[in-house]
Amino acid sequence: MGEFALIEEIRRRCAVPRADVILGIGDDAALLQPRAGSELAVSTDTLVAGVHFPAGTAPFDIGWKSLAVNLSDLAAMGAEPAWALLALSLPAADADWLAGFCDGFAALARQHGIALVGGDTTRGPLTITVTVHGFAPPGAALRRDGARAGDRILVSGIPGEAAAGLTCLLGSALLHAAGPVDRDYLLERLQRPIPRVALGLALRGIASAAIDISDGLRQDLGHIAARSGLGAVIVTDRLPHSEALQRAGDADQRLRWQLAGGDDYELCIAVPPARVAAAQAAAADCGTVLTDIGAFEEGDGVRIVDAAGADVALPRSGWEHFVA
Ligand code: ADP
Ligand code: MG
Repeated sequence: MGEFALIEEIRRRCAVPRADVILGIGDDAALLQPRAGSELAVSTDTLVAGVHFPAGTAPFDIGWKSLAVNLSDLAAMGAEPAWALLALSLPAADADWLAGFCDGFAALARQHGIALVGGDTTRGPLTITVTVHGFAPPGAALRRDGARAGDRILVSGIPGEAAAGLTCLLGSALLHAAGPVDRDYLLERLQRPIPRVALGLALRGIASAAIDISDGLRQDLGHIAARSGLGAVIVTDRLPHSEALQRAGDADQRLRWQLAGGDDYELCIAVPPARVAAAQAAAADCGTVLTDIGAFEEGDGVRIVDAAGADVALPRSGWEHFVA
């Protein structure tokens, strides 16, 4: 396969029709019809083999995840997905690999009606950069800087499951007690994250701030706190659990997964106390759960406390590139 055969295969396998795509893959640039009166939300994220996924990860999962992490950013903004670009750097033109990758990418793209409208294809170490575009009504997008002191902190799903999945993948003895059903479930949480797009849309007008959890709950919550000029406190006993997570590790290990594990792609939001019930009802409509884990407060930084209010120490806060 040459470069143009690769591009044609991507175009064929990833096609999602949209009326607002005037001209898609195949010209020097795509021509797109922006939605009148909307703000355009734009975001990009890169996955590097060996950094964001282990070498040998199934191509379907890589394709899925490369779009999922980007859709998750749109979800965290409360933006409706529209268009995507895909910059692919591949070590070789492997038709089977490309087919698997495209099928994973396309499966998620179809679910969200997002059209792949262009990109770039080069030879090099396996690296995938996806750029996404979405719409939100003026002033309605969920930002990091809108939290107020007293707002509750809510998280969707079960943060920590993806990190437990990574521990499974790395073959830690710790998880040998977890049965194959748990392992498959936790691995799926790591490799096929579900971007909370519908939830993000439903939270417009309810949440005062939002972020998606890619680098660990504590660290990502810290970004909302910092951008909002506040501190935050998480109560460990309030953190949501699943049975699979309970079985996978002891209490200390679980706490590290929940607070410092990355790759969950759940939403962490600020909600005024009077709107918590509305937020939780919206989540139920989207087939997910929002758990109240703490509150924003005057000050700075993220405090972790137990039910009695005593500080809980954690060894590491979350994932950061360029930090040893
Ligand atoms: P140019 O050299 O002008 O950048 P390319 O040969 O790179 O053009 O791309 C040809 C067309 O194929 C363009 O429309 C481009 O957006 C699209 N394209 C290239 N690579 C990809 C890809 N990985 N995914 C989607 N579209 C792609
Ligand atoms: Mg090019």
